[in-house]
Amino acid sequence: MAIQAPKGTTDLLPRESRIWDHFKRTAFGVFSRYGYEPIETPIFEQTELFVRGIGEATDVVSKEMFSTITGENLKTLLGGGHVKSNSRFSLRPEGTASVVRAVAQHNLVTPGGVPAKLMYAGPMFRAENVQKGRQRQFNQVGIECLGSVDPAIDAEAIIMLMRFYHKIGLKPETLRLLINSMGCEKCRPAYRDAVAHFLLDHESELCEECVSRAHTNPLRAFDCKKENCREVMKNAPLIIDALCEECKDHYAAVKGYLDEAGIAYIEDPTLVRGLDYYTRTVFEVQVVEGMGAQNAIGGGGRYDKLMEEVGGNPTPGLGFALGFERCILALEAQGFQFDEARVLECYVACVDPAVKPQAFMLVQRLRDAGFATDMDHQGKSLKAQFKVAGKQHVPYVFVLGPDELAAGSVTCRNMDAHDEVTLNLEKLTKALEQAALTDEPTALGDVITQSS
Ligand SMILES: [Zn+2]
Ligand SMILES: [Zn+2]
Repeated sequence: MAIQAPKGTTDLLPRESRIWDHFKRTAFGVFSRYGYEPIETPIFEQTELFVRGIGEATDVVSKEMFSTITGENLKTLLGGGHVKSNSRFSLRPEGTASVVRAVAQHNLVTPGGVPAKLMYAGPMFRAENVQKGRQRQFNQVGIECLGSVDPAIDAEAIIMLMRFYHKIGLKPETLRLLINSMGCEKCRPAYRDAVAHFLLDHESELCEECVSRAHTNPLRAFDCKKENCREVMKNAPLIIDALCEECKDHYAAVKGYLDEAGIAYIEDPTLVRGLDYYTRTVFEVQVVEGMGAQNAIGGGGRYDKLMEEVGGNPTPGLGFALGFERCILALEAQGFQFDEARVLECYVACVDPAVKPQAFMLVQRLRDAGFATDMDHQGKSLKAQFKVAGKQHVPYVFVLGPDELAAGSVTCRNMDAHDEVTLNLEKLTKALEQAALTDEPTALGDVITQSS
């Protein structure tokens, strides 16, 4: 059998690739209105970055990273030798740690300077069990804002995330925005301990994993899908009762801005999101129907301590990421149809192979003038050439044959209107050459009018 793509990866074929491009452009278009600028970081980083940034106890780092070392080092390791930690790499499982690393490395946030607002798009990698909406290589679009603790930053990020979903075509009534506050370094440790104690008090009723979470990452027990654990966790202490005054004020301010902007949200005190680095505001957007358990299509939060974790100067931050594949699943579940893009604007058909050299040159002239154009390369009959053009929804077909050439003309058929005009070949050539010289895009209709 021919070699297949690795499990959990997807080829973006031309149609999907065009949708991904549209998705990115839509997102960047919305985010840039809020002052965000693009950034691209490497697809792999030192493993240490994710260990320190995301947290060793998270599933992402402990189980799901694709890690690698290079040739010579692999030999050393297999031979029982030692490999320096900066020679161990991992494919990025998410975008935040890399962007924060880049901001620190290039000093993008200076004391007293304006916040760095950055947006990115690209593939992320997690060695997960593959299922619908859960791939090993998946595409994300995200933003990070470094350098401000202002709750308005949290609110505007949430607002622009919701604006994006509406812009891409998801119906507002099908989305559910959950928000919560995770507290800060002052109030969270005590809350974390309280949850750990609660877990140990209920050891006998919880699954093994949740019991072990008591020692590593107690808040993750809120995400356990097992029925018993969910029942128990209903009575667990809630962060909302443990927030310090500053965190309460910050949370209230975020909600105030959202109310002001007319953004509907649900406060979910059990929303903890998987990663260790979140402080204060966290949020998640879910699709109400048709997505099963994989219904989260985006989310994020504030991470005021992350910069220090990866070795930078103390710098507050906030970010979110949204999954491309799940968004598309959600759109399709709502019956959304992407426009079938017309790739070719023109097709040049040959009545007879004898005129191919002239047809070939007409194709080049149309392309130089800015029109996506193609012709037959398989010796097809005229009828078959029209069939090909029709199948590709090409709006204009130019027909060239010995008779036309002798008369110095070319026939142009408008495939949508089903009518034909005879054009003067010399005039057409001139109009196309003229169009090739201008920077402004020329309308094909104008070229045709000038040539008739
Ligand atoms: Zn606090
Ligand atoms: Zn459990």
